[in-house]
Amino acid sequence: MKDNLLWVYQQITKSQRAALLEELRAQANVPVAVLFYHRVANTHESPWSLSCDNFCRHLDWLQEHFEVVSLHKAQQRLASGNNATPTVAITFDDGYADNADFAIPQLISRGLTATYFVATHFVESGQAFPHDAAAGTPLRPNTIEQLIDFAEQGIEIGAHTNTHADLGRIHCREQMEQEIVSSTHKLEGWLNREIRYFSFPYGLPENTSQLAVDVAMEYGFLGFCTAYGAWNWPQATPDHPSGAVHLRRIHADPGLERLKNWLTLDPRKLRDNHQLPFRISAQPQVAQISPPEPVQ
Ligand SMILES: [Zn+2]
Repeated sequence: MKDNLLWVYQQITKSQRAALLEELRAQANVPVAVLFYHRVANTHESPWSLSCDNFCRHLDWLQEHFEVVSLHKAQQRLASGNNATPTVAITFDDGYADNADFAIPQLISRGLTATYFVATHFVESGQAFPHDAAAGTPLRPNTIEQLIDFAEQGIEIGAHTNTHADLGRIHCREQMEQEIVSSTHKLEGWLNREIRYFSFPYGLPENTSQLAVDVAMEYGFLGFCTAYGAWNWPQATPDHPSGAVHLRRIHADPGLERLKNWLTLDPRKLRDNHQLPFRISAQPQVAQISPPEPVQ
């Protein structure tokens, strides 16, 4: 029912959306969408799982309407201040073993890439995430070998803390460094690769903080992802803060109709009204850094 209403709303606002896209193209200010998924599998349905068929439907639609690029390429487009191409980057959070069975091979077979954020404690221990264990579905996390395999196939591995902590609640710098810096060092050691991106667990404004952003920027990440549910704009205005370092993501697990509505420029979702609990002091020079794109 909700999907039907969304569809009707999309139809009513269709011409308005199309006109806006043309206008933004002409201004080279087409916003970039960064999506986040968690788990693709046909078992243990949950609000953070998508079936294999549905994941394919998402990819079909995304590939038809957008250029699907790496997070780094998306970031470069934002940092350049000009983008006339509808652009999407795909990310995954947490690190579920099931993704090795379908989601990652599916991306690779389509010539797509993604940035894949993992929490190291679970990879190392093999323990299920507490929220899954509490729900009676102790799903397996990825192994180090799986992550090495993903990275070798061109999937960029990113950091997502050690214990999947709510960083908004950590006020001790040492503990923050353990969650962000020590876990990223561990990941770099496992993969023998530089880790360039970080994503905040939970990722809402209350789960982010000045201390966390300071520690992440001092570490030297090129950018960090939140789950603010917003677009990233090439040209910053008070309503549209720049997304070149703080990459605002849109939750893609809830299904295709919702995603279509978002990504076809839902007029209600154009402004980012979030009050940021942090300022970014040191800006990495994203546009000038051009390491090789992951192998397609
Ligand atoms: Zn997470």
